[in-house]
Amino acid sequence: MRLLQRHLCTIAMSLVAVCSANAATLVEPTLHIKPAASGAGRVALTLDACDGQTDTRILSALVENKIPATIFVTGIWLKRNAAAVEIMRAHPDLFELENHGGRHIPAVDTPQKIYGIKSAGSPDAVLAEVESGAAALARTGQPAPKWFRGATAEYSPSAIAMIRKLGFKIAGFSINGDGGSLLGAKETARRIAAAKDGDVIISHINQPTHAAGEGVVQGLLALKAKGMTFVRLDDADGTGNHGTTD
Ligand SMILES: [Zn+2]
Repeated sequence: MRLLQRHLCTIAMSLVAVCSANAATLVEPTLHIKPAASGAGRVALTLDACDGQTDTRILSALVENKIPATIFVTGIWLKRNAAAVEIMRAHPDLFELENHGGRHIPAVDTPQKIYGIKSAGSPDAVLAEVESGAAALARTGQPAPKWFRGATAEYSPSAIAMIRKLGFKIAGFSINGDGGSLLGAKETARRIAAAKDGDVIISHINQPTHAAGEGVVQGLLALKAKGMTFVRLDDADGTGNHGTTD
């Protein structure tokens, strides 16, 4: 009996070891663009449209001030925001639409939670998330996406390798502008206005009721006033770490 107990205990302990070994160590890749050769510098503005609505404060400010941006859209958001998609399509000189996944599921191929969101959990589920995001964009008549950014912007290294094999570059960032749209307007504006030549800013365009959106607009206008220029990821030479762009 004691032998059996010890045996069961050994099995239990090895199961624990297997479970913890399965939770991948995640990475949050950075991305920079090539600095400007001259002038006040240039930055790339990237805005995530995860789910929910459209922050028209930001969308209108981008159109009015002719600020180009790369918008990472999910299949869910595309379905619910046809009017905003029309505005973006009407300004192809300003907006580049890229792949934020079909259902806003983190591109992590082991089962775990990231900021409370369940990961894809398997290689097949990561592929489905990436491919369904690209398919949703194709249905809107957009050019095929070249960049992917997963929900939460965290990845398992093996998922990064899979996504690269599909032909997508992975969009990290160097400035977290709005802290997942949870920061106040003042702090968001301060972070964005502090962007330097070559930075890639991430913020959100899907939370019209959050104070952060007001800060995004203020920060961008401050950069513009300093003479900073804005480029989209397709127009810049982006370099990321963790094998995300090479
Ligand atoms: Zn997102």
